[in-house]
Amino acid sequence: MPAHRNHTGRSFKSPSTRSSLSEELKTLLQEQKKSWKALADGYAALDSVRQRNVACDGFDVTLQFNPGRMTSTAAPVDAQSIKDRSCFLCVENLPREQEGLLCSKDFVILCNPAPIFARHFTISHLDHRPQALEPFLPDFFSLAKDLSPAFSVFYNGPRCGASAPDHMHFQASPAGLIPVEREAQSARRAKVISIGKTEILTLGNFGRETIVMEGNEEERLGNVLGKLLGSLKRIVGTTEEPMVNILCSFRAPLWRIILFPRRKHRPEAFFRNDESRIIVSPAAVDMGGLVITPAEKDFNRLDGKLIEAIYSEVSMDDETVQRALEALA
Ligand SMILES: [Zn+2]
Repeated sequence: MPAHRNHTGRSFKSPSTRSSLSEELKTLLQEQKKSWKALADGYAALDSVRQRNVACDGFDVTLQFNPGRMTSTAAPVDAQSIKDRSCFLCVENLPREQEGLLCSKDFVILCNPAPIFARHFTISHLDHRPQALEPFLPDFFSLAKDLSPAFSVFYNGPRCGASAPDHMHFQASPAGLIPVEREAQSARRAKVISIGKTEILTLGNFGRETIVMEGNEEERLGNVLGKLLGSLKRIVGTTEEPMVNILCSFRAPLWRIILFPRRKHRPEAFFRNDESRIIVSPAAVDMGGLVITPAEKDFNRLDGKLIEAIYSEVSMDDETVQRALEALA
């Protein structure tokens, strides 16, 4: 029998078994489209999004014109704005119609009402607590395993893409739909070092720094990822979490982490007050090669040069990344 857990007056179902989680999520989404109008509207809008490919120097990206993402892409994430709004991930603030599936002890999986993908979920901590990866590395890996092979799980740092930096969450997307998931297996990959049985690679000629880590042992890979975060933190000279977007996927027996080290959240063009403003707010999906433009004029005018400039502006520089990787050896 599925267990229930009460939380601030709401109860969520648990999946019957961990291995049936991804199937039960598909069912949850179907049912929620019938019972929750805002979600049905969000998915109806997704049917009419437009996409086009843009050739950049050495790589391609896909642009997605998705007006439904305006609230999320343009969300003010400064401390005062966050303090002044009520948190949309807190259980007590969820729409009445919203249901979820419990997973990984502290998290509930929710349907994202502003989808980028045909199946798009937010995996939200049951308590209001800040976005931070390190305490939840074991959850990140267990989620990726439980949701495999149908889904990949991703994380956006609190200062580089999370639209709720005050409430811990991951997201899940259908495996393979973020272009970098294919690129990470392409000829552009080059091995940098091995630590035990974990291989660390980078992607060349890709317009933004991209670190790939692979291994068959979850715990060791988690340790290496933790070390890399520590190394980036020291080299950047911050006491906060280094700015990163991370994808995690599992295809038995292989785990794969794809990490984008960042130096900036939004490009300067995002903050302009005139016609030249570009509403692009890069997070894991955008860094992964699917660039979301909620404004049609940006969808029409973004070209290879503009995309390259945005990636270059928000990505960590290669020299710093090299130093962080060398410090791991
Ligand atoms: Zn919250």
